[in-house]
Amino acid sequence: MRLTAKLLKCSFLLLLLIIGGANLSAQDFPEYSGTDLGVTYSSTGTKFRVWAPTASAMVLRIYNDGEFGAAIRTDSLKQDASEIWDITLPGDWKNRFYTLQACIAGKWMAEVPDIYAKAVGVNGKRGMVVSLAETNPSGWDADKKPALKSPNDIVIWEVHTRDFSVNPSSGIKNRGKFLAFTEKGTTNPQGEKTGLDHLVDLGVTHIHLLPAFDFQTIDETKPEQNSYNWGYDPQNFNVPEGSYSTNPYDGNVRIREFKEMVLALHKSGIRVIMDVVYNHVSSAQKSNFEQLVPGYYFRMNPDGSFSNGSGCSNETASEKPMMRKFMVESVAYWAKEFHVDGFRFDLMGLHDIETMNAIRAELDNIDKSIFMYGEGWTAGDSPLPADQRAVKSAASKLNGVAVFSDDIRDGIRGSWSDSKDAGFMCGKVGTEESIKFGIVAATNHPQIDFSKVNYSKVAYATKPASTITYVTCHDNPCLWDKVNFTCTGESEKAMLMSQKLANAIVLTSQGVAFLHAGEEVVRTKHGVENSYNSPDTINWIDWSRKSTYREVYSYYKGLVHLRNNHPAFKMPTAEMIVANLKFFTMPAPLMVGYQISGNANGDTWKNIVVYFNSSKADVKVSLPEGKWRIVANGNEVNEKGLTTQGFNKPVSTSTVVPAKSMLMLVDIESVK
Ligand code: CA
Repeated sequence: MRLTAKLLKCSFLLLLLIIGGANLSAQDFPEYSGTDLGVTYSSTGTKFRVWAPTASAMVLRIYNDGEFGAAIRTDSLKQDASEIWDITLPGDWKNRFYTLQACIAGKWMAEVPDIYAKAVGVNGKRGMVVSLAETNPSGWDADKKPALKSPNDIVIWEVHTRDFSVNPSSGIKNRGKFLAFTEKGTTNPQGEKTGLDHLVDLGVTHIHLLPAFDFQTIDETKPEQNSYNWGYDPQNFNVPEGSYSTNPYDGNVRIREFKEMVLALHKSGIRVIMDVVYNHVSSAQKSNFEQLVPGYYFRMNPDGSFSNGSGCSNETASEKPMMRKFMVESVAYWAKEFHVDGFRFDLMGLHDIETMNAIRAELDNIDKSIFMYGEGWTAGDSPLPADQRAVKSAASKLNGVAVFSDDIRDGIRGSWSDSKDAGFMCGKVGTEESIKFGIVAATNHPQIDFSKVNYSKVAYATKPASTITYVTCHDNPCLWDKVNFTCTGESEKAMLMSQKLANAIVLTSQGVAFLHAGEEVVRTKHGVENSYNSPDTINWIDWSRKSTYREVYSYYKGLVHLRNNHPAFKMPTAEMIVANLKFFTMPAPLMVGYQISGNANGDTWKNIVVYFNSSKADVKVSLPEGKWRIVANGNEVNEKGLTTQGFNKPVSTSTVVPAKSMLMLVDIESVK
């Protein structure tokens, strides 16, 4: 009966307004500046506040179950003086579920959680009232971020929650779950460290989780199907994904387990970054956004259809004040409630510069060491004017927000769009200037011929921490598959030299270093390039490969530790790089070499010489004056000097850079 009364109230008054669709003007959507939208729980009353200015009525339903069953209570919200739909239910509503339903232009929309929902039931269809304080694991109040002196010190390891642990060789109990990141003492069948212990041993400073907020594609009620998806299909932005929890039905569990993951990683000295995908939603029409305020949160084409700059059938409109506000508050919520240490913005070019800088300012208020970076491009064209986009070429306007360097990425490995196109690592001549551009982290350097850099003809970064230096991530072929595609006709031994050379470049370059999880154990996706919905068997990290390719793992580990120990590879300013890093003129193509001098950035090493030779021949090079000790070659790293025969003696005047190898030398006084 109560519902009938509500239905009668669903008014047609706003019909004309809505018919205007994309042409609605800003004043039709009055802004709200308060920070109290969404659900606020207390044991004596729960407040619900919803911004939906074009709704003529708003109904709240309370349920006992997150999925099924009739409402146990139905109430109408009322608009307050700020035009916010508001209601407070007296009493304790903890662990009950809820939906909201808006009447728009005489039509009742679908029941949805509010866009700020902090907890949901299974598959995210109903919101849940929770007491957040009660989701805190033991020790949460004492949680501290691991020390981080400078963003230049960051070494990122990008991983998907399932990939990390779902292979039985992980030896992990909570396979595929957030809790996998809390398990210590795990090994592969050969007895070598996996999981959390592996990360500590490798020496990375941050893990970057592929989407771990609630996304749509996985049916959380059917875990036995072992469905897989990367998760770039957002459903509830402020809620952890249910399929990664041990119980997706109880909204408290995924929150607590996410926090347990963060706490365990922090205790092990590792910070946590989330991949956030505010640029689109899984299904625009069905989304909480569109069901509550149709025509507001998305960019539209002139014909009224959704624009598609994301390549995923819709794109959000960060330039609209209430979408910008949502993004700022959502990121801040993850930072404060979950102690998240960094955010990677998917298709950041679809967001406007003002919004990205507003998020940066908000995070600075919480903790300046929280790191932000993103993909400085779009997937398709967008109605957002080009000069407002947070793209790579606008890096200098993004204060404290780094961009991925596709220049060094494709310089090293070859084109992203053509799997057969080789890069420097498999001997493609003409890639040398792109490598040099990456070595200085896309900052200006007088010895680089920018006309020969693959994509960018100008230095877009004003400081090295604005650039993510990498060769592969989850997209496109993984490193070993790309090596197999492009080092055609070579032996496995030769191809492994390319696998090592690729990240030898990354881990010695300036900028923020980034590794794709598992390339240190020669991960393969069996040739599948964009494995977003491929099964576990394609995507998982097979931890037994750590034993098969033990020498590759040792090499990567040696390089990460060398980077951690030597600030010369992490200079904070472009000016310091120009002053201390000089490139050599090389005797042959497929070679890049440089010297870092002057105890750069406070390094204990006074003079460092680095060569990369990606040709199939050993090449003799003249050395700068002085006596030198080799600390790394294409196979091993030893900061005290290599002990392997042929590399163990001090050298001067000249040396040979072996084929497909890095060679790093340090002046003999610095390594005594
Ligand atoms: Ca989900």
